[in-house]
Amino acid sequence: MARVFNFSAGPSTLPVPVLEQAQADMLDYRGTGMSVMEMSHRGGLFEEILQNAKADLRTLLGIPDGYQVLFLQGGASLQFSMVPMAFLAPGERADYVVTGAWGQKAVEAARLAGEACVAWDGGEDGFRDVPDALPSGGSYVHLTSNETIQGVQFSADPTADAPVVCDMSSDILSRPVDVSSYALIYAGAQKNMGPAGATVVIVRDEFLSRQKAGLPPMLDYRVHAKNDSMYNTPPTWSIYVSGLVYRHLIDTGGLAATQARNEAKAKLIYDAVDGSGGFYVGHAAPRARSRMNVVFTLRNDSLTKRFVSEATAQGLDGLKGHRALGGVRASIYNAFPMEGCHALAQFMEDFARRHG
Ligand code: PMP
Repeated sequence: MARVFNFSAGPSTLPVPVLEQAQADMLDYRGTGMSVMEMSHRGGLFEEILQNAKADLRTLLGIPDGYQVLFLQGGASLQFSMVPMAFLAPGERADYVVTGAWGQKAVEAARLAGEACVAWDGGEDGFRDVPDALPSGGSYVHLTSNETIQGVQFSADPTADAPVVCDMSSDILSRPVDVSSYALIYAGAQKNMGPAGATVVIVRDEFLSRQKAGLPPMLDYRVHAKNDSMYNTPPTWSIYVSGLVYRHLIDTGGLAATQARNEAKAKLIYDAVDGSGGFYVGHAAPRARSRMNVVFTLRNDSLTKRFVSEATAQGLDGLKGHRALGGVRASIYNAFPMEGCHALAQFMEDFARRHG
């Protein structure tokens, strides 16, 4: 079996023990003679899978009482619309902190629902940094904890005078967070959790009580909360594999240990950038550097294509930067192995030596 080092931004690499468990369960889950994909979501076994996944996610993130955990569909992209439809009432304002392309998409969607303001915009500077302080006074303030395309990440939990809504799609479970700093967290599964399909929403009850009335049921967080994420058929396979990932994270030391691994992994690549004498140029300001998506360019951009194809030939897959930005992006989520970061750092050094 040959597995590549998969630097894809998402869907992305999953822990091998999780894949092996899913494989072992594939044809016959616990003597049922069927896979999880094939079983009723209303049966006792799936109910157990869902409840265990929820409980393990609560344990991992230390989610306090007074918060709901929901598994929805529609990706983080649907949350861009659901949040303002639910929490931005006429005559009110929501503040968006835009530190990259996903925050931009979020505010564009929110403008269709109400008065959404760009309170801070990193766009003029090419999205390289995060603000020092967050705006106050709105119905909520929306931020993206990690911008997947630009590789810009907040280094700490926010403090704000407004309820904080956070798109955590690309760094959830990569480090401990203080959930009580947030009114609502959302994240698609396909980076740090499992296969695409489920979108996790963690929402404070008190914030939920402010939700507008009259929403269509599928867009109504309270309907999903009341039905324990079973208002309709949930994304069962995505929830099951995500549950295996949560258990795996608990078994490998929880989020503090995960964070330490992630810091060490990212450092290997940033050190290769910083030590290249300008051959490689990091995109984000050092204080806003993402531990999940390391984004850099080559000083001589005409070498970028060659860099990516030579890397691919050496089993370093998926390094081509996002089409909006060019350059190189190394996505190194939780399940991406340390050896892959070593291999990339080595390759970078070698490539710079040959072409510098
Ligand atoms: N927000 C962020 C930070 C993302 O990285 C992505 C996906 N790359 C999205 C939102 C959109 O997620 P989805 O494709 O699940 O709708």
